[in-house]
Amino acid sequence: MTADIAPATDLGRIDVMRPWLGEEEVEAVAAVLRSGWVAQGPRVAEFEAAFALSQHARHARAVSSCTTALHLALLTAGVQAGDDVVVPSFSFVATANAATYVGARPVFADVDATTGNLTAATIEPALTRSTRAVVVVDQGGVPVDLDEVRALCDPLGIVVVEDTACAAGSTYRGAPVGAGAEVAAWSFHPRKVLTTGEGGMLTTQHAAWAERARLLREHAMSVSAADRHASLLAPPEQYTEVGFNFRMTDLQAAVGIVQLARLPEVVRRRRELAATYADALARVPGLRPVADPAYGESNFQSFWVEVESGYPLDREALMAALAAAGISARRGIMAIHRQPAYARAGLRTGALPVTERLSDTTLILPLFHELGEDQQARVVDVLRRSGRRT
Ligand SMILES: *Cc1c(COP(=O)(O)O)cnc(C)c1O
Repeated sequence: MTADIAPATDLGRIDVMRPWLGEEEVEAVAAVLRSGWVAQGPRVAEFEAAFALSQHARHARAVSSCTTALHLALLTAGVQAGDDVVVPSFSFVATANAATYVGARPVFADVDATTGNLTAATIEPALTRSTRAVVVVDQGGVPVDLDEVRALCDPLGIVVVEDTACAAGSTYRGAPVGAGAEVAAWSFHPRKVLTTGEGGMLTTQHAAWAERARLLREHAMSVSAADRHASLLAPPEQYTEVGFNFRMTDLQAAVGIVQLARLPEVVRRRRELAATYADALARVPGLRPVADPAYGESNFQSFWVEVESGYPLDREALMAALAAAGISARRGIMAIHRQPAYARAGLRTGALPVTERLSDTTLILPLFHELGEDQQARVVDVLRRSGRRT
């Protein structure tokens, strides 16, 4: 839609997101290369320990992506073929794919119009006698009201998996998101606030689930490759079930350790930029910016605005206006049930009016650590000028 609109080259392009990486990450990777051990090893173990500590998790297992963390989360929670897993349609496709991987049926539930997250009230109508798990998402970094969801699901024996892909650095009732979940899945893709290139983490309160995740991520092999290497006379390994290769490398973990230390600074800056947007947009009728819920704080991984009917342009036209000014914005979160992979018949889906509306009307604005004041002012200027009725 916007590819044919030439960006204004004299002003310089403004990206929607850029990872914040520095010399420390370069040095950390170089040190791993010099060590000669580049696959999963000591840096992965160190990253897991640091991540568990910072996110108040009992156990952390590094994996290759959030998608594989979600897959392992459902497996370790005992979800299997024939089960139903309630998921938001208003999410990245991987949230639903994880249920599909384990042979379960994703059942889409609608989201709250303000936060874009599942709530007990939206989950309830999607429950069936076969519901084994619910995957809640802290969408764009906005924390889900986990206590309320668990109050519904725990008595029914339904496991609540938290998809914390976007939410490193967000808080829920004063604690890091995910801390209150039985199991959570994190992403370190560059589109998220903490990156290792590709990468993910599973955190859990259950030692047995952590142990099973550790096994399954490495071919369900009784002796890890690192342990086998460490001993001259390695014991013969056994493959206790059909596992996967979902390992993170030490090259990635070395970056993750540096990035984790930067997280408080990154979140502080993102919240500052979000507050500037919110202030400026308060005087622009018809644009509703995402905001903190009463019970927590977002890391503003995505700063989205809902383009309401009171605004003169619709979402597509506003995106085009931004592109014409050299500014890259993104359509808001997708609606999974409308994608060809899931639009096929047979999936039980009630009406998802809020999901469809938000998916059609939300726009993600540029927000990254090194976004300059002048650049942010340019974005605000386009939003204001396009908002004026002529
Ligand atoms: C990005 C994202 C994922 C997938 O993360 P990967 O690390 O790329 O696999 C899953 N769920 C949500 C909500 C996401 O935003």
